[in-house]
Amino acid sequence: MMTDAFQPDALWTPLALLPDGWRRNVFLTIGDDGRWKSVAPETPTPPAGAEVIAGAVLPGLVNAHSHAFQRAFAGLAEPAGDEQDDFWSWRTRMYAVANRLTPSVLRAVAAQLYLELLEGGYTHVCEFHYVHREASGAPYADPTAMLTALAEAADEAGIGLTLLPAVYERAGFGQSEVLPEQRRFLATPDDAWAMTTALEERRSARINCGLALHSVRAVRPDSFARLRRLAENFTGPIHIHVAEQTAEVEACLRETGARPVAWLVREGYLDPRWQLVHATHTNDEERDAVARSGAGVIVCPATEANLGDGWLDLPAWMATGVPLAIGSDSHVTRDWREEARCLAYGARLMTRRRGFGIAASTAAGLFSGAQLGGGDAAGELVWGLTPGARADALRLDLKQPSLIGVPPEKLLDAVIFSSPSPCWADALVAGRWALRRGRHPRRARIQARFSQAMEELWHSASDRPDAGQSFPVRKQKLSSGRL
Ligand SMILES: [Zn+2]
Repeated sequence: MMTDAFQPDALWTPLALLPDGWRRNVFLTIGDDGRWKSVAPETPTPPAGAEVIAGAVLPGLVNAHSHAFQRAFAGLAEPAGDEQDDFWSWRTRMYAVANRLTPSVLRAVAAQLYLELLEGGYTHVCEFHYVHREASGAPYADPTAMLTALAEAADEAGIGLTLLPAVYERAGFGQSEVLPEQRRFLATPDDAWAMTTALEERRSARINCGLALHSVRAVRPDSFARLRRLAENFTGPIHIHVAEQTAEVEACLRETGARPVAWLVREGYLDPRWQLVHATHTNDEERDAVARSGAGVIVCPATEANLGDGWLDLPAWMATGVPLAIGSDSHVTRDWREEARCLAYGARLMTRRRGFGIAASTAAGLFSGAQLGGGDAAGELVWGLTPGARADALRLDLKQPSLIGVPPEKLLDAVIFSSPSPCWADALVAGRWALRRGRHPRRARIQARFSQAMEELWHSASDRPDAGQSFPVRKQKLSSGRL
């Protein structure tokens, strides 16, 4: 018997996407640990007590790369008139927001973001976190104050969360310290490890933790070695930004004699725990080495397009067999369908082809990669509609006009490539409905707090990031070695 309408013990659905493809009449039971206990296709009638899910059921997806605070300036940091505007000038604007955050503002912004991510089909988010200290650079009395704010936001929204405290030590290659505007990012390997250890007590059915290194440019080489020793027996995921910008690749070559991914390979760091965020500028040798290492790759197509990072060679990555997890990074979009569409269309525009050797379809290939890679990025051993995986799911509304009359084998194609309208209004996280028929129990409170936080962040119009030339952009030129 169901004891709680939001927390079913069992579900039955006429159609579900299992690891071996679409299956009919699927009966799923949920354990007390919030994981699938059993998944049985070909169960012709709903067993007593099972909640019947009309339409179809998809696994929820992991958003494998997020900086929640950047939601506060999505749409507010677009260039106006400056032909030279690029990643680095955007980054300067981003720092202005980062330096105004307080734990309560971060909590409010993150809760709004996490609600939007649920609506965008993500049931879990990996939070790559580097705003550790107060704006002055002084540590908070509780060094995990900002991470705790993120965990509280995830609890309020009901989304799953992997917390990834990041090591951040220097302004760039050849630098020994951070810039003044980067003071609150400062964290040594021992600091990050201490945060991860402290977060252990927050572990729950929905929340876990891993580690991050900001990038090869922002972490000293000896600190990579230090973190490796500290994390020798750590089984959680280890995330790093890598090769997002050509300038970063060139600077790394000058400093180390190797490109960033090649450097990680050369130093022997990569193993299946490692998750390479972006990996935009890589060559065949690097891609093959990543595939051999078992490390994962996380692409953030909408952010990479928005920032003009460059083109990720999708067909080449597909050929390696490395599953590509999806992240929304700066949150210019909060829906995985848009990310998948952006990735596929970028590749079609660049190659003037439509297929990339994917057996099923482009949509099915991208979804499968995001499902497999996303689970790894979140530190989950299994992910999807399968026993032992967390009980996360989306109910697909087959009465949406774009899905009417579409046969099961084409449903993912239609979801991604023919669907401006919402495809789902229900999201299950760890066996609990976080979103039900489009309703969220705490939506009004979350939006009110978000509105107040935006007011706090942007009360002074003169330094809004959209204030064009009046905004004090202090662009760091690569030639000065100050990335
Ligand atoms: Zn990032």
